[in-house]
Amino acid sequence: MANPHVTRERVEEEVRAALATTLRTDADAIELDTSIVNGLGATSIDFLDINFRLENVFGVQLATQVLLDHVEEELGEGKAIDRDGKVTAPAAEILKLYLGDLPGLEAGMYADEVSTVVTPRVVADGVVRVLDTLPDACTHCGASEWKSEDGAQVVCGACGKEAVYPTGDDLTKRWIHDVEGEKQLFANA
Ligand SMILES: [Zn+2]
Repeated sequence: MANPHVTRERVEEEVRAALATTLRTDADAIELDTSIVNGLGATSIDFLDINFRLENVFGVQLATQVLLDHVEEELGEGKAIDRDGKVTAPAAEILKLYLGDLPGLEAGMYADEVSTVVTPRVVADGVVRVLDTLPDACTHCGASEWKSEDGAQVVCGACGKEAVYPTGDDLTKRWIHDVEGEKQLFANA
């Protein structure tokens, strides 16, 4: 179910703000489809910092592991990353389903270079994916009276507690099994 309390625009605005603060750049100058690594010069530590800022703003837990590591854990070692550390053909397919068909994203690229294709839009998608799982009812009191004063944190209108979302890692795992059940990308890999 979509989350009616937090807009996509707000998420994108906060992604830009988090990037700008972490990378000490101007938020208005950040294009949604630029590579965060190649275009904005982010390192892996910066990604942790950006995620941390977004988690605080929206009251969510974003994925701590990248998709390919989840695929390896869920579907078996070597399925997503070959012996040379390169992305397998089915892994490239599932990455495209997950991230979008981004420039440079292809089978045979080094797995540790996948982060170079990540854009602000991809980060926003990850936040929205978690926010969209807002449960129907409050897990504390059972009321269905969500509200948000600031358009970011969703709280229960009855008991005042913050909404509890599944973690980004749990959602990613679920998503991998759903996609694999439907498409059998890795069945013969
Ligand atoms: Zn409640």
